[in-house]
Amino acid sequence: MATRFVNGRFPDGSPAELVADRGVFIAESVDGSEEVDLDGRLVLPAFGEPHAHLDKALLAERFPNPNGDLLGAIEVMRIGWSTIEPEDIVDRARRTVERLVAAGTTLIRSHADTNSYAGLKSVRSLLAVRDAVEPLCDLEVVAMAYPLTGPEGREGRRILDQALELGADVIGGAPHLEDDPAAAIDHLLNLAVETRLHVDFHVDEVLDPDFDTLMDLSRAVIRHGLEGTVNASHCVSHGLKPESEQREIAAALAHADITVVTLPRTNLYLQARGQHQAPPRGTVGVEAMVGEGVTVGGGADNCQDPFYSIGKCDPLETAGLLVSVCHQTPEQAFEMVTNDIRTIASRPQLDFRPGSPADFVAIEAESIRAAIADQPAGRTVVHRGRVVAHTTVDTWIAD
Ligand SMILES: [Zn+2]
Repeated sequence: MATRFVNGRFPDGSPAELVADRGVFIAESVDGSEEVDLDGRLVLPAFGEPHAHLDKALLAERFPNPNGDLLGAIEVMRIGWSTIEPEDIVDRARRTVERLVAAGTTLIRSHADTNSYAGLKSVRSLLAVRDAVEPLCDLEVVAMAYPLTGPEGREGRRILDQALELGADVIGGAPHLEDDPAAAIDHLLNLAVETRLHVDFHVDEVLDPDFDTLMDLSRAVIRHGLEGTVNASHCVSHGLKPESEQREIAAALAHADITVVTLPRTNLYLQARGQHQAPPRGTVGVEAMVGEGVTVGGGADNCQDPFYSIGKCDPLETAGLLVSVCHQTPEQAFEMVTNDIRTIASRPQLDFRPGSPADFVAIEAESIRAAIADQPAGRTVVHRGRVVAHTTVDTWIAD
């Protein structure tokens, strides 16, 4: 049955009266449609979370990371994986997805550790969650495989093959951590050619400006004919290079149609520990990237685990950091957590026109800026034309 959404408001102040049928907006109301009152809330495209680690979410209490840095977190999880049961992964991932959905997120891309420590339990569990939450949101599972080269490479490649056979949606890896980064990139891109899946790399999550995986990646993507199907996440070292070099690299990425995800929350936390004078921000050079035509999305990365012990499941938190840390306007930051994520995942844009997916969030805020500033909890979330979450907040203040 069609659903008619009334009493909403677009950011320009115009009334948002919308009709959805079979998952998309349609031009006119049809007989017998159900009515949903949006109660004057601001109607915005639904959020995307382009980079989660649902398999590790909510482990902060169980596996503390005393160093607070990236290598400390990797070490904690290397030992921790042996004690984690699949049911536990499913439970934490499901609860995290529900929090993301309640915040207005209907497209999530999550990495799943695919290595000799986690084996296949992470991929298998997240695929089960993907299928279970299908009515609430679109969840993409990335088989994040590392290492693929060096002494443990053979085992790594075997586990990745199995993960793809199980039905992982996206191929992932971390070439900058590999003994042979070029060989790892080649292996992952060859798999992409074979399977026709997208690839999402962890790239250069280090503060050394000499790390430059992006140039090699651009050339390799063109060589494999995979333009428009590859995303590079983190790219921390890029933000530490001179601006002319940032531009040169950005132009190469644009040429290869590679998209980028920056993760200010976690990289502010993990990087530059102990550097008390002028610590760097750990984000990609956003101005150079956007200036050269690269789509840059913003993500949260880890949520309350050894890689980031706090953090909400709310893309408006990421948008706020894109404003303060990356100096984007609220409107630019908002695009980076909504339709830019759709571009990265090759999904249709959310523009409220007939035929557009009926995915939106109606939020108790006056404007996009105010929504990012206040991050109000009061939200109504719609996925494929159906209300999937509704939150109201009552505040009482004494005279
Ligand atoms: Zn990550």
